[in-house]
Amino acid sequence: MVDKTSVLIAGAGPVGLTLANELARFGIAVRIVDPAPARTDKSKALVLWSRSLELLDQAGYVEPFLAAGMPAHGAQLSDGKNVVARVTLDGIKSRYAYALMIPQSDTERILEETLEGRGVKVERTVALESFRDHGDGVRAVLKKADGTSESVEADWLVGCDGAHSTVRHGLGLSFEGTTQQSDWYLADGHCTGLEPHDVMHIYWHRDGILAFFPITEGRWRVIADLGPAKDAGRHADPTLEEVQALLTHRSSQPIVMTDAYWLAAFRINERKVAHYGTGRTFLAGDAAHIHSPAGGQGMNTGMQDAFNLAWKLALVIQGVCKPSLLDSFSVERSAVGDMVLRNAERLTDAAIMRNPIAQGLRNAVAAFAMGFPMIQERAANMLSETDIAYPDSPLSRTARHGDGPRAGMRWPDRLPMDSAKPQFLAVGPSGVVAELARQFPTLVRMGPEAAALKLIRPDGYVGFDGSPTDRAEAETYLRELAG
Ligand SMILES: Cc1cc2nc3c(=O)[nH]c(=O)nc-3n(C[C@H](O)[C@H](O)[C@H](O)COP(=O)(O)OP(=O)(O)OC[C@H]3O[C@@H](n4cnc5c(N)ncnc54)[C@H](O)[C@@H]3O)c2cc1C
Repeated sequence: MVDKTSVLIAGAGPVGLTLANELARFGIAVRIVDPAPARTDKSKALVLWSRSLELLDQAGYVEPFLAAGMPAHGAQLSDGKNVVARVTLDGIKSRYAYALMIPQSDTERILEETLEGRGVKVERTVALESFRDHGDGVRAVLKKADGTSESVEADWLVGCDGAHSTVRHGLGLSFEGTTQQSDWYLADGHCTGLEPHDVMHIYWHRDGILAFFPITEGRWRVIADLGPAKDAGRHADPTLEEVQALLTHRSSQPIVMTDAYWLAAFRINERKVAHYGTGRTFLAGDAAHIHSPAGGQGMNTGMQDAFNLAWKLALVIQGVCKPSLLDSFSVERSAVGDMVLRNAERLTDAAIMRNPIAQGLRNAVAAFAMGFPMIQERAANMLSETDIAYPDSPLSRTARHGDGPRAGMRWPDRLPMDSAKPQFLAVGPSGVVAELARQFPTLVRMGPEAAALKLIRPDGYVGFDGSPTDRAEAETYLRELAG
């Protein structure tokens, strides 16, 4: 017997769960499988940035995240003795102008509970073993913990199966990049002696970085770099005493860690695929890109891959749009992945400098630059991922630019969408947008009155930018998308 489904998702980490939620929200049949018997109990990715919160809000399930998380409003950089710079996140141009600190274990719990509320249950202890894209669909073999196998026929397969992705290997895509030969410690536990508790504390000590990220009241994530690796083998996980010795040595105040939940050593990998899929198979999240945790972008970027892919897949599956719509997924998200890797590398390089002259220069430049509100704002918009845009996407078209965000840019406000339908929102003079909604009833929804004419994508980016006299161009744009 071969089971049939519309979309098979391999992997129920935060990215697979986000994708499953989005597809289920649009009424698409999904199966989501994962060999792990339970979701992670580790804090791993700690931050939900503004853009992810906006997308969760638009999707209708941001509230449980806000209730479980804790806002952090900035960062404080010290050289081990003095505060070098303070960075505020208040300037982020978003209704969520902060970093929401929330352990990945909670993020996954909320996503899984929301998914169950939509009637989809993660199939645990089930791994994707192999697959074959035969043009009309994908034939996949699932392996269960009891050793039995099941054949599944899916219209589409998405590999959200993490850094060691079976889907990526199956597609034969190379994961270009490097493993940095430096060791890091991670510790998650309660700390006393750190104030204020709603900012990140970063010590650029001459012997290496020591960074504290608030998780909940009194609980902190600590990251410290140990310098170049002594050998190719994995460094042993630290003891609490070893972590405490670093805290005492590198911070300027007496910080004490107790009750460690998690102590680990790690190395940084920076790798990415060139294409996020081929044919009927896609990759999203760590399966497509991994990088340094500096900036806390990994999970956010992966979840936004999922938001980007979900509405496109839904419109194609529902027959509203042509399959060529899906070509824009890799173009858009691979460009974002490249940018995120570059930024994370820059932040990491700045953090691990050992040369005292370079360190002095870095500290002086940071102190100087962060004195300018505009630079602070730019840094905050980069970290919060609110500056992500798709100007070079095949989906971004400008007939004429008037007011407001340009083609490819994010629409900053919450959109009055029907949460069960992936549709473009037409913003402009009511007569023009009513006509577009009449001509393309499944693809376009009437939005608020405005002087310019814009078509805003279901994920909140401007697709078409024009003036009311450009109605014919807007129609052409929609006709090219429509199936
Ligand atoms: C120690 C550590 C610390 C981290 N700290 C941070 C941080 O501070 N900030 C940050 O942004 N990121 C951090 N990350 C990275 C972050 O956790 C990842 O970016 C995020 O988990 C990616 O989500 P994902 O869903 O793509 O992949 P994953 O979370 O890796 O999930 C992949 C899932 O796929 C499943 N799977 C594997 N093989 C198969 C298969 N054959 N079939 C089906 N399912 C399969 C796995 O069991 C897993 O559940 C950290 C990661 C680690 C390991």
